[in-house]
Amino acid sequence: NPTVGVLALQGDVREHERILHDLGAAVIRVRRPEELAQVSGLVIPGGESSVIDKLSRLFGLQHPIRDAIRDGMPVLGTCAGLIMLADSLVDAIDGQESFGGLDVVVRRNAFGRQVESFEADLDVSGFDDGPVHAAFIRGPVIEHVGPNATALASLDDGRVVAVEQGALLGISFHPEITEETRFHQRFLSSVNAR
Ligand code: GLN
Repeated sequence: NPTVGVLALQGDVREHERILHDLGAAVIRVRRPEELAQVSGLVIPGGESSVIDKLSRLFGLQHPIRDAIRDGMPVLGTCAGLIMLADSLVDAIDGQESFGGLDVVVRRNAFGRQVESFEADLDVSGFDDGPVHAAFIRGPVIEHVGPNATALASLDDGRVVAVEQGALLGISFHPEITEETRFHQRFLSSVNAR
């Protein structure tokens, strides 16, 4: 089995590790370029994207991660992780950067404050065995899907909350806290297909 990584700079790293582990994957935490070099795929957790951005630059990971994405490394980004994968950001803090890779415009904190967190059942394209129960916690929304990316799921009002582009998967919510394993399975399939 190839080894996959969870970017462990900030955020809900442990929840992702547990799901990947339960699915039979070999998992390591990635904090340094040497660790990134050992993995065949990367999960970027939920948390605070501006902090993940800052720490990734401080730890010398920004450029290696960008290079790996360009080389086709599969990446699953949830919430802050989706923000890190977006080519373009709205409502980012001053100077905030992303890794990019997904041809989308993502708006941070699109649903308001922490207290306005909510849950919703979503149909996800490719998941034929029932809806996803999705938890939104100060989540971002995918405001524009460019020609290279494909929307996978939307809210009832039409706002896009999951997107795919090649081996990159970005979602606004947190499957790692609702026992939802299908996104991680999809990610591991991309890793195994490479
Ligand atoms: N609001 C956070 C950000 O901008 C994302 C929230 C989350 O990951 N739960 O990074």
